[in-house]
This record gives sequence, C-alpha cells and structure tokens, in this order.
Amino acid sequence: MIKDFEYFAPKTLKEALTVLDKYRDECKIIAGGQSLLVLMRQRLVAPEYLVDIKGISELNYIKSDAKEGLKIGALATHRAVEKSPAVKNGFSALGEMERRLASVQTRNWGTIGGNICHGDPAGDPAPVLIALKANLKMVSLKGERTMPLEDFTLDYFETALEPDELLTEIQVPLPLPHTGVAYTKFNIIESDVATVGVAVSLTLGSGNNTCEDVRIALGASAPTPMRARKAEGTLQGKKITDDLLREAGVVASTEADPISDIAASAEYRRELLKVLVARVGKRALARAKRA
Ligand SMILES: Cc1cc2nc3c(=O)[nH]c(=O)nc-3n(C[C@H](O)[C@H](O)[C@H](O)COP(=O)(O)OP(=O)(O)OC[C@H]3O[C@@H](n4cnc5c(N)ncnc54)[C@H](O)[C@@H]3O)c2cc1C
Repeated sequence: MIKDFEYFAPKTLKEALTVLDKYRDECKIIAGGQSLLVLMRQRLVAPEYLVDIKGISELNYIKSDAKEGLKIGALATHRAVEKSPAVKNGFSALGEMERRLASVQTRNWGTIGGNICHGDPAGDPAPVLIALKANLKMVSLKGERTMPLEDFTLDYFETALEPDELLTEIQVPLPLPHTGVAYTKFNIIESDVATVGVAVSLTLGSGNNTCEDVRIALGASAPTPMRARKAEGTLQGKKITDDLLREAGVVASTEADPISDIAASAEYRRELLKVLVARVGKRALARAKRA
C-alpha cells in the first residue's frame, strides 16, 4: 500500500518550483511515475507531498538547430525521442537506444528526464548521452545551472539535484565532423534493463583515420554511469584497428566496478564489457568513416 500524500498538479514551471521550494525534502516530483511508483509501492520512498509535473507543457519538446544542437525538454517521453525527426537526423544512436528501452507502453508514458533523475546506473539513456557530451539544465526559484551529465549521478539512485531543483532540459551539442556514435545493451529479457550497456563515440581526423576524440560510457558497470577513461586512452591519437578495440574492451572491463546481482555476476559483466566495447567501438568507427 502506498502511504497517503498531498497531491499537486502545477501547470507551469514557476508553480512547480514554488511548491518544491516550500516543501523541499518532504516532497517528491513525479513525471511518468514508471520508476517512482515502484519505489512508493515498496515504501522505499514515502513523500508527504507529490508534485505531478506531467502537465507542464513548456517542458515537453524536442528541437534542434545547426548552431546549438539538440535540446530535449525533461518531459519528452522515450517514445517521442525515439520517433523524433530531429533525433534521427544527427543523433541516431539516441533513437536506437530508445527503441530498446522497456516496452512501448513504458516508453509512451516514461520521460527521458525522469529516467536520468532516477539515477539508476543501469538506465539506458545516460551512457549514450554521456558519449554525446550532453549537459543538463536544472532550475530552482534561485536561478538555473547546467552541468555535464557525466557528473550528475553521484551514487546508486543519488543525483546532484538539490531538493528545490527541477531538471528542465537535456542539451546535446552537434557532433564534430567525422564522428560516429553507437550504443548497445546486453539483456536477457527483451525490453528489460541492461545487464551491461556500452556507448562509444569516435571522432576521426579528416582523411587520416586517426582517433582525435573518443568517449566510452558504460551502464550497469559501476554505482553510476561511468566513462571508461583508461580505455579511451588506449584509442586516443591512434589509428583504430580491431586489435586496439579489443584492448580497449579489456581495459574497460578492469576499470569498471560492477556488482553481482540476480541478472549476472560481476565476472560475467566484465566479460560482457570486453566483448561489447570492441563490438560497439567497431560500429562507431564504421559510422565515423561515413560521417
Ligand atoms: C516495466 C519497466 C521496464 C523498464 N525498462 C527500462 C529499460 O529497459 N531501460 C531503462 O533505462 N529504464 C527502464 N525502465 C525505467 C523507466 O522507463 C524510466 O526510469 C522512466 O522513464 C522514468 O521516467 P518517469 O517519467 O516515469 O519518471 P518518474 O518515475 O516519474 O520519476 C523518476 C525519478 O525522477 C524524479 N524526476 C522525474 N522527473 C524529474 C524532473 N524533471 N526533475 C527532477 N526530478 C525528476 C522523480 O522524483 C523520481 O525520483 C523500466 C520501467 C518499467 C516500469
């Protein structure tokens, strides 16, 4: 049974921030409820006040332009991101990730902002968005701030959000020329969360196939979504070969810090990382060569 709470359904960002500012730690935001309601049913979370932001239309958008890149409002649903022409044109790895997130029903109601704020290290969006160098915009009555997504999750289900803050926007810069990005996850049941997720972004120098920039981001491999920086170091400045990608996989598997749980042992997750980093790196490389 869910504990009783007082319910607010603000229609504007200002109204929502006013309620958050008043009740702070006693209050919880609900967007699609796909993750929060599970926690409330288990009584792991029992807020006195619930602020339902789903009706704030000013936070539900996806837009892009040639200067500022992609901007996704926190209330855009997974399904909207998956289907967005702006995402398909230039950020296709993001749409591919969404197609494998949960079921269509969950994607229709769950929001990309809610997924990130949930702080689950196994969430699918974070690794891709980290590979894409995404920033998050957070707003409170005091003002606004932005931070790289890679710094946002602090521990299991713990984020940098202050109690009076709301995530409003995910900002994805335009990829550099000759950049390829790819993501995959391993899961046993289709539409389930990742046993391990891997995103790779590779940028090649023009005409020389040398790796000028690289990001390798891992999901379900540590208490937070993480960058495999040592693995990135094995590729940076080099001509990418299959052997080098395999080496990056081995290095990523050693710098990851996975847990053993019902889905897989830590050892199994490390083995998956070895294979998936090389495999996803190869796909990113092929895309970078075509970009
Ligand atoms: C059956 C099922 C399968 C799933 N499979 C997957 C999967 O394969 N991959 C995956 O990544 N996820 C999966 N999920 C998780 C789920 O899809 C996401 O976590 C969901 O999108 C969260 O969005 P929401 O809008 O429902 O957030 P909510 O549940 O409403 O909120 C989640 C958390 O974020 C906070 N929050 C929400 N929005 C904001 C905001 N704008 N600012 C500040 N805080 C906010 C809430 O307070 C809460 O703590 C699955 C869920 C279900 C039910």
